[in-house]
Amino acid sequence: MSLEPIREAFAMYYKSYSSLIFVPEIEKREFMFIDFQGTVKRHMTIKSIEELRSKLERETPLHSYYSVALYENPSAKDMSSKGIESAELLFDIDADLLEVSCRKEHDHWRCENCGRRGMWPPPEECPDCGSKRIRSFKWICPICLEAAKREAFRLMDFLSSDIGIDQEHVLIAYTGNRGYHIRVREKRAMSLDKVSRREIADLISGTDLAAVTFVESGGGVSIPRVGEGGWRGRFSNLLLSILEGNPPSWVDHKTADYLRSIPGIEEALLKGKKLHNIGSKAIRVLRKLVIKMGEEEGVKIDVEVTSDPHRFTRIPNSLHGKSGLRAVTLTPLELDSFEPLAMATGLKGRSIKVKITEPVPEFELGGSTFGPFDAGIEIRLPIDAAAFIILKDRGIPI
Ligand SMILES: [Zn+2]
Ligand SMILES: [Zn+2]
Repeated sequence: MSLEPIREAFAMYYKSYSSLIFVPEIEKREFMFIDFQGTVKRHMTIKSIEELRSKLERETPLHSYYSVALYENPSAKDMSSKGIESAELLFDIDADLLEVSCRKEHDHWRCENCGRRGMWPPPEECPDCGSKRIRSFKWICPICLEAAKREAFRLMDFLSSDIGIDQEHVLIAYTGNRGYHIRVREKRAMSLDKVSRREIADLISGTDLAAVTFVESGGGVSIPRVGEGGWRGRFSNLLLSILEGNPPSWVDHKTADYLRSIPGIEEALLKGKKLHNIGSKAIRVLRKLVIKMGEEEGVKIDVEVTSDPHRFTRIPNSLHGKSGLRAVTLTPLELDSFEPLAMATGLKGRSIKVKITEPVPEFELGGSTFGPFDAGIEIRLPIDAAAFIILKDRGIPI
């Protein structure tokens, strides 16, 4: 399949809008491009914004990234020779990691052997022919993008309450597809090593809740008291909501009833008194509740991304090769009213004819509504809608 019409539209975009492209501290960054053939070019250095802009115009990559790290020698071929000076602390929020119900409406799978299709989630093997060659087709819609936005705000709340990082040190960027990159540029955070980054990721995602461990001393058990900060405070608030009879929906009745029956739990919670002689079952149930709380209330981030200071982020206002949408830098206020499918379009130019190869749900892009389209039909579409369908592997240019 030739993506040439899409590549031409990308090229026209970079020619018309390259003045919107910018990267801070450009000469210390490593750049990475992936071209329309899928070739990855890494370890590139770029000396100035002008050079970057003309390179994007000339090379028209499908994906364009720069390192969150600042290096002494960004073009060195191996990581240890690059000489890392510091790196923004990066968080990746992706709708893929969120349980969104719309996936059942707009994501589907197809058996590569017999052609059978079905809606999300894909089976291990095809129910018709037993083949394991199952291909998934993802889509994005305002519901999953809204969920990603909510998660981005939750992350910023955690950064402020649990790590002490204010919003003024935080950069927000829509990736151009399924989510957001949140980067911390505060000095202390930028000098953190891999281990500390991992600890922060584990804390925010709720996978390491050591702070809520119960202390047994002098025959009593201490639990967090109402009014404490961080995860300890979240746990005491959770217990309080259970005692008051309005727990979150993920706490089952049996657990709630049992916790309410623990002698002295209200006093412990409100006055910081120790729990005495509550037995090992009570401690087990409390510990299980801590783990479940982490799973339910932790921010859904990609922990590996945050742990690794050598990661990349997208060049602001560059185009995403899986949607044709722009990567957009946002302030928290802008994020609040940001609607990616209406506001992150950027491709202009002549309409093109598309052959639909996979079913396309109804969707809105740049203020217009398209679809639904059945597989097999041919239709002329504006370039942004055509690119969206083609880059999501649901159609080909003809
Ligand atoms: Zn099959
Ligand atoms: Zn969706």
